[in-house]
Parts: sequence; C-alpha cells; structure tokens
Amino acid sequence: MKAALMYGPGDIRVEEIERPACPEGGFILKVSAIGLCGSDIRNLTTDSRKGKYPHIYGHEIVGVVDEVSDTCTEYKLNDRLYIYPVDHCMKCEACRTGHSEMCENGGDYTNRQGGFADYVPVTRTQVERDSIYRIPEGVDMIRASLGEPLSSVYACQENINVTFGDTVVIIGAGPIGCFHAKLAKMRGAKKVIMVEINDKRLEMTKQFGVDHTINSMKVDAVEEVRRLTGGKGADKVISANPSTQAQAQAIFMAKKTGLVVFFGGVAKGALTELDTNYIHYNGLWIYGHYGANSMQVQKAFELAIDDAFEADKFVTHVLPLSKINEGIELTRTGEAIKVVLIPNEE
Ligand SMILES: [Zn+2]
Ligand SMILES: [Zn+2]
Repeated sequence: MKAALMYGPGDIRVEEIERPACPEGGFILKVSAIGLCGSDIRNLTTDSRKGKYPHIYGHEIVGVVDEVSDTCTEYKLNDRLYIYPVDHCMKCEACRTGHSEMCENGGDYTNRQGGFADYVPVTRTQVERDSIYRIPEGVDMIRASLGEPLSSVYACQENINVTFGDTVVIIGAGPIGCFHAKLAKMRGAKKVIMVEINDKRLEMTKQFGVDHTINSMKVDAVEEVRRLTGGKGADKVISANPSTQAQAQAIFMAKKTGLVVFFGGVAKGALTELDTNYIHYNGLWIYGHYGANSMQVQKAFELAIDDAFEADKFVTHVLPLSKINEGIELTRTGEAIKVVLIPNEE
C-alpha cells in the first residue's frame, strides 16, 4: 500500500510499504478520506517523536471495512465508519463523571499507525470502546471526515453554553476558528467578531456568519472589540490560535463577568503573561478547553454530516494523499481552510 511516512521534521515521503496485518478482534479499514489537521502539521514539521521515525500520522479517519478478524462480530466488510482517534475506557473516574476527554486509560493515537495511508488497522480495544461511528448510507465521506475536528469545537461551545443573544469574539480564523464562528451562529449568537492577522482568512470567514472582522496587525483589536460592543466587551472570547500574546489580549476583550477560553495550545513551555488583577476585579471566568467527551464526539459527528452545517464550505481543497506536502503548505499559508486527503489513488 501507499503511505505518507514521516522521516523527520518536514521530511514526509509517500512510499510503497507493506499493508498492515489484520489485528485479532479488529479489522482493516480502507481509508476513503482523511483530514489534515493543525496538530498533524505541528507533529509533521517538528521533532514530535524524538527521533523515532519513520512514522505515519493522520487521525481524522473515515473509510470502509476491507478485512475483518474472525473474532470481530460487530463489523463486517464494506461497513462505512468514522474512527475517532482516542478511545476512552468508560470505566475510570474521568469517564464516569462525563469527562471521557480526560480518560486516564485513553488510547494514544500518536503511537499507532495513522491514516495517511491506503489502509489502517483498527484494534480490538478500539472496537470494544467508544471510538467507532457508522456513517449513514448516502453521506459524503469527505463531510464525515469533519466529525473529528468539529468535536472539540462542539464540546467547547456546549460546555460554555454559547447561546441566544451572545456576543462572541474568536481569535484565529483557521479551520477551527471558522467552525467556532459557524457553530456560534447556529447556537443563536447575536454577534460574532473574528480577530486574525491574515486578511485573506478574514475575508473567507464572512461566509460562516461572521458579523465583524478585525485584522489585529492593522488596528488595536481590544479597542475595536470594545467599540463594537458599546464599550462593554464580549460575553465570550475564544482564543483559537497558538499565540501567547493573543491569550494575554483576550481577557481585555471580555465584558465584566465574561468568559475567556484558551482553546488553542501554545508552543510547549511557552508562558503567557496575564493581568490577573484585571481578571480578579472584573470577575472574569477563564476556561481551558481540550477535547470532547464521548457523547459530544457523537453529537459533533451528527452535526458535521447534517446539511444545516454546510460542511462542504469548510473543505477548500481535496488532494490525493501523494500531495500531502502541498496540503501542508496550503494550510500554513492560509490559502486553504480545510484540506482533506484522498488515499488509494489509481
Ligand atoms: Zn476512562
Ligand atoms: Zn484533528
């Protein structure tokens, strides 16, 4: 089979390798489509595995069952499936309290073969846990591949209850920021303000219901948010980017008793300087968001494949797997919103 192997930071080669053996109690999935995620790009372009190469990344996997172990009774040939990358045990305290995103025994997708390949093995443990979802007949596989990246956005807005009448500021107009804008509008937000440094990206966000765009390189974003909110600040501010500076600024965009979310991770070890007196005297809520619990994963997937979500608008580029390096470039430059790769080329 063909696979995109990472040999080191930024060194990704599409090569012919042996098809994986079918795991006992599991199956082999023929990958139909696989999204290219910001975290994939971070992993592919840094020394993410400390020298342990080659490795195949890719975690936004949808496909069709191609081979099944005799001892796997749940799935059969040609079943269309979406594989969520983290399988939760549903037994630990985190899982039992509704926070399976913090599962103490969760499967680590970064240490098994990923989906940037024609075929991917799915293990017995994955089958037995909560990580496999059926894709209904007639649903486009590319759409279905958005279930995974949408899951954490969905979970975040459910947890902070973005609701009717809210003013929401989103900092960072990458694919995740665009999902946030669309979802906030669907949940009834009155005003969505997008802050970003790239004009091209800002322009693209308007199709997702963004009411105001701010280029923070050109104007003082805090002042501008205050102006657009009658001097008050926003109900909810979501920082969806890797900048510590943006995180520091975010708190000044929130209204008194407003809520600030640190959604995007920053570089490992980087520290953000926060005016905690400002947080204290204005009664701000600071929330770090990560992942999605099992039920939120399911609901986000149902939303991704619902016509109302208009998933197709987010997917600006569909490329064969062999063009993965091009996909990385398109995403990094802001040319693309979401790139989806298609393995199993002729
Ligand atoms: Zn657990
Ligand atoms: Zn992802």
